[in-house]
Amino acid sequence: MNVGIVGAGIAGLGAAVALRRAGHNVEVFEKSSFKAEIGAAILLTPNANRILRRWGFDFDKARPVDFKQFRFVHAQNLSMLAREDFEGVEEQFGDRMCAYHRVDLHSGLRELAEKEGAKIRLGAEAVDVQPGDGVVTFQSGEKVQKDFWILADGCHCPFLPKIADEDIPTKKIGKSVYRWLAPFDKVLEHPDAAKLWADQAPGFCTFFQPTTGIFMVTYPCRAGTLLNCAVFHNTRPDETQKDVWNASTTHEKVLDALDGYHDAVKHIPMAVEQVKVYTVTQRPPSTRLYRGRMLCIGDTVHHMLPSHAQGGCSALEDATALEILFVADTIASDSSSLASRLDLYQQLRLPRSATTQILSSTNPQLTMDKVAEKTEEIRRFYGGHLVDWPKGSGPWSREIREFWYGYDVVGEAEEAMKYRESGRLPEGWRWFGGGREGEVVMV
Ligand SMILES: Cc1cc2nc3c(=O)[nH]c(=O)nc-3n(C[C@H](O)[C@H](O)[C@H](O)COP(=O)(O)OP(=O)(O)OC[C@H]3O[C@@H](n4cnc5c(N)ncnc54)[C@H](O)[C@@H]3O)c2cc1C
Repeated sequence: MNVGIVGAGIAGLGAAVALRRAGHNVEVFEKSSFKAEIGAAILLTPNANRILRRWGFDFDKARPVDFKQFRFVHAQNLSMLAREDFEGVEEQFGDRMCAYHRVDLHSGLRELAEKEGAKIRLGAEAVDVQPGDGVVTFQSGEKVQKDFWILADGCHCPFLPKIADEDIPTKKIGKSVYRWLAPFDKVLEHPDAAKLWADQAPGFCTFFQPTTGIFMVTYPCRAGTLLNCAVFHNTRPDETQKDVWNASTTHEKVLDALDGYHDAVKHIPMAVEQVKVYTVTQRPPSTRLYRGRMLCIGDTVHHMLPSHAQGGCSALEDATALEILFVADTIASDSSSLASRLDLYQQLRLPRSATTQILSSTNPQLTMDKVAEKTEEIRRFYGGHLVDWPKGSGPWSREIREFWYGYDVVGEAEEAMKYRESGRLPEGWRWFGGGREGEVVMV
């Protein structure tokens, strides 16, 4: 088939790699010129890194940092409040849990897509879509017709109502994030910061200030040369419009949020010239992912909170499902063949991505008891077995890791393909925790 992809983020580039590997002609249309550097890091967990490895991603070039622990530190006196050990995660789940500079991840994916033979057109902004005809109109006035379109234009996708039949607006949650990437050597110039990171395995170091409730997440990327920092705070009145990723803010506002923090932490934003602010948004799951010749993937259709680092990981899972479900010699380009395969895709992906989205809407300070309260919501999308979340465990606990990192999208999609003649996956398709075989309960 001739496939068009709108958007060259993680989802769009991943889909380009996947659909080339599946044997299709692929053209990606990206509105930006890729010049604006997105100065932030991103954590990918083993469910996503297994995918990158399958595609031959150049990890050495991207220089991600492996995560070995999560530390929850009192912001005022730097005492340790809690710690989660990630040792053994790589052995258990067959791949790394590591943080990338976003630019390094994006460049690596772009290289892979181009190596596979995908064409990428920059400065091409889609302004309208006709799902039934497979036509996308661009800002230039050009109309492009393809057999199959992937809409991967991110969380502000204006086309979703045409696909999902419902208007599911992206909403602000009242929280914003000050963010910056600090040179790690400058951070360590403060003697107490140096002590805090001395002889510590890499990973999260999250500071929490109990009197204000404001927390600051930090973790290293790019071979440990940079420290990614994010201060989650209540959105200030002058930040309400800043739902763009790259809005600038001032050091004074960051220091105001860090009121009561230890000097070693307040020193960290001073290590950079520019700090950014981003207003956090989320959207409930869409009940429909495709229409006509168009399919939504990634943040377009499952924009979620960053609390469990699964947005980008889910986008890569979506792409991999395409690679297996849309193998060229198993599908014709007529609309009824396409519709039945898209339906299979939706049966496979929607329960997983919607559940991930729902569970990600828990605040990082919430525990599994709160996660368990989401069961009813999850049941709208997923009919299989559910984990009995252990009371009191935190969001980076072993149980939650098993739920997310253990998911094998390749195996699941291959299994789903066995049902392509009937077009229906069996009732209660189970992938939660322990896979399809046997009782999938209580990780
Ligand atoms: C603060 C924060 C921290 C996060 N941390 C993590 C993490 O640690 N781990 C993780 O897995 N996820 C994380 N995420 C989520 C992750 O960043 C997203 O899920 C992921 O980037 C989504 O990728 P995407 O390709 O779907 O969308 P985007 O990255 O938004 O890409 C969309 C692309 O489409 C282009 N585009 C938009 N409109 C058009 C148009 N009309 N025509 C053509 N092109 C268009 C855009 O320019 C862009 O290149 C985090 C998110 C936030 C906000």
